[in-house]
Amino acid sequence: MDSGAPEEVECCWKVDNHRCGTILPEARLGNHLAADHDACGADTRRLICMWIIPTKDGSQSLCGASFRRDNLKRHMAIHLGNQKYECPICKRTYSRADTLKGHYKKFH
Ligand SMILES: [Zn+2]
Ligand SMILES: [Zn+2]
Ligand SMILES: [Zn+2]
Repeated sequence: MDSGAPEEVECCWKVDNHRCGTILPEARLGNHLAADHDACGADTRRLICMWIIPTKDGSQSLCGASFRRDNLKRHMAIHLGNQKYECPICKRTYSRADTLKGHYKKFH
């Protein structure tokens, strides 16, 4: 276990053609999606995932997956697992772009 601060993630839910961009602890993402992105309601309600996924060539694609609301957390794990920013020099990974930027400035 990491003894540092809880891992923070960036919400990439599509809002008005942009990523939401809210930074929050990973444990609170489910609540945030329910409160701010209407991912709430009955467990059996079907949701469409509006998570924006950055692609290797620098463009973005929308996840678009459909799943039951009670599977939201499990589904999000896919995106959060992929949400890594890798230092091009030492290959360390960070979950936030600005953390990587800070690392880059300090060490390279
Ligand atoms: Zn959000
Ligand atoms: Zn998704
Ligand atoms: Zn580095």
